[in-house]
Amino acid sequence: MLLGNLLGRRGISVAIIEKQPKPYNLPRAVHFDGEAMRVFQAAGLAEQVLPHTMVGRGMLFKDTHDNVVVDWSRDQEIGPMGWYESYRCHQPGIEDALRVGLDRFDHVSLHQGVAVEGISQDDEGVTVDLSDGRAVRAKYAVGADGANSFVLSALGIRLDDLGFKEDWLVVDLILKQPRPDLGDYSVQFCDPVNSATYVRGVGDRRRWELRLPDDRAGEPDAAEIWQRLSRWITPTDAELERDAVYTFRSCVAEKWRDGRVFLVGDAAHQMPPFMGQGMCAGIRDVANLGWKLAQVLDGGEDVLWSYESEREPHIRQFIELTVSLGKLINQTAAGETPKGKMQSIWPELGAGLGSRVGVGGALAPQVRAGDVLADDVAKQGFYVLAAREVESDLPVVVGAQDWLAQHGVAAVVVRPDGYVLEVFA
Ligand SMILES: Cc1cc2nc3c(=O)[nH]c(=O)nc-3n(C[C@H](O)[C@H](O)[C@H](O)COP(=O)(O)OP(=O)(O)OC[C@H]3O[C@@H](n4cnc5c(N)ncnc54)[C@H](O)[C@@H]3O)c2cc1C
Repeated sequence: MLLGNLLGRRGISVAIIEKQPKPYNLPRAVHFDGEAMRVFQAAGLAEQVLPHTMVGRGMLFKDTHDNVVVDWSRDQEIGPMGWYESYRCHQPGIEDALRVGLDRFDHVSLHQGVAVEGISQDDEGVTVDLSDGRAVRAKYAVGADGANSFVLSALGIRLDDLGFKEDWLVVDLILKQPRPDLGDYSVQFCDPVNSATYVRGVGDRRRWELRLPDDRAGEPDAAEIWQRLSRWITPTDAELERDAVYTFRSCVAEKWRDGRVFLVGDAAHQMPPFMGQGMCAGIRDVANLGWKLAQVLDGGEDVLWSYESEREPHIRQFIELTVSLGKLINQTAAGETPKGKMQSIWPELGAGLGSRVGVGGALAPQVRAGDVLADDVAKQGFYVLAAREVESDLPVVVGAQDWLAQHGVAAVVVRPDGYVLEVFA
């Protein structure tokens, strides 16, 4: 739906096929970052998304004696993306905003309650067979169909398993009365036996994620769930909204493209949720692919070859860090790890468009030009970000002097997805 909004805004015709007849009204992702917010802005939906969020305070990792071993606090000021560094979110609210956003475009249609059951392609386009007997013909198709992707298997693409596989119980609660003592930080309770995550959700929502033993018998019932939560909360304080067992995995598809068909999101990669980055990665995928598809469909240079080469090494950095955090969470007992601070990572894109010298391929900051954010000045096109006025055929935004000076450059060309295409000394 996000890709549908991004392409809709660029005037591209899109048909979205979703097998579920109704929205899935329960939360999964509870966090996204400032770069993801920049993509919602690119879809013209920042104002619609914001009411379903709150600014993220950060994450603490505690040992079995409740000592903080890693402090990953987030800035409480607007950051380089032009947005806060981290947001807590209520996913059904965000999905509603995306769905309503599609109504802006006569050329984008959403078909719910219909599954994709076949996919074939030729030199001119792709034919997608639907469960209701119809077929959709398009120039390109994008498999955004999640962890059990039909498109991935139909294309015969294998997943590169990066070795993490654990079962965790995810419990969403709604507070019946205030519990300020639980705090606004998310907390990773590191423990070699009973590791757990607490997440402060939006409004009265609170989440716990509890690691399950590999040799458990069956799914935990309500009594067992409350027993494991009793250290923090009881039924007097909160009601159970839902519980579900997830197998957290780490994997990357060996190919993200086959001819005219692309994979994005969990269909292309999966990681445990310890950094709150799985959905963010899918958001980056469609930000990267969206403007490239639109450019090619508008008759511009074919840059689609760069989608996988730019995105794949980028996501691997997140997966590797997430998996090492998972090890920390599952192995740290009291007193084993010295206290440290953690910073968010903002990796460069893998090889692709433009050079990778200096800040080439890095995420450019988004400054304000008066009341308007720079990406909006450029109407989600390319623009020059310069320390002072320069002549260019592209829109020029003056600002980010400190960042430019720090990297020894006078100006950069910023792509529609916010990454640096070209650098001028
Ligand atoms: C417990 C938990 C917590 C998480 N927390 C975070 C977090 O805080 N932050 C974060 O960034 N990420 C988080 N994630 C990861 C995030 O939820 C996923 O990465 C994200 O939902 C993937 O989005 P997607 O659109 O790729 O796939 P999905 O959300 O799985 O959507 C795929 C869609 O495709 C549809 N579909 C499937 N097959 C077909 C078919 N054949 N035809 C038509 N439609 C089909 C499905 O019905 C579904 O609607 C978390 C994940 C879990 C499990």
